[in-house]
Amino acid sequence: MSYSSVESVKITRGVIAEILQHARQCAPNECCGLLVGRGEIIERVYRLSNIAEDPRRRYFADPRELFQYQKRMRARREKLLGIYHSHPQSAAVPSPTDIEQAFYPEAVYVIVSLGPRPQVRAYRIVGGEAKEMVYEIVDDAPPRCAGPSTELAK
Ligand SMILES: [Zn+2]
Repeated sequence: MSYSSVESVKITRGVIAEILQHARQCAPNECCGLLVGRGEIIERVYRLSNIAEDPRRRYFADPRELFQYQKRMRARREKLLGIYHSHPQSAAVPSPTDIEQAFYPEAVYVIVSLGPRPQVRAYRIVGGEAKEMVYEIVDDAPPRCAGPSTELAK
């Protein structure tokens, strides 16, 4: 992916709201999903089912859904920019398991914590080490005026 050299990332307001909502809906279990964009801004969320045996303490994405979304992303020319999951009970800091199972050094790992105060933090995890990333919250893209084709593609 072309993202490896970027030290900071932009995330839309809508994406932040959506992952917080997803985390609340799944609590006390952890939620997970994909963070997708077209440029270098994370502007879309694809929710995934957490099929881990112990979903309160870890996450494992349903591989069939992952496959479906990969097909959709190819068709829409979207880029996978990151992965998010929630920590309903603990801080938004990667657990040893999160670090061990972070297989994508180019990805932005976003962790949502629900309490005591909701928090969203971003990391890059490379070679067994997590480094916090600065992110900037940006407005959602204005509706495109390109005619009906953008709507029909959904
Ligand atoms: Zn975690």
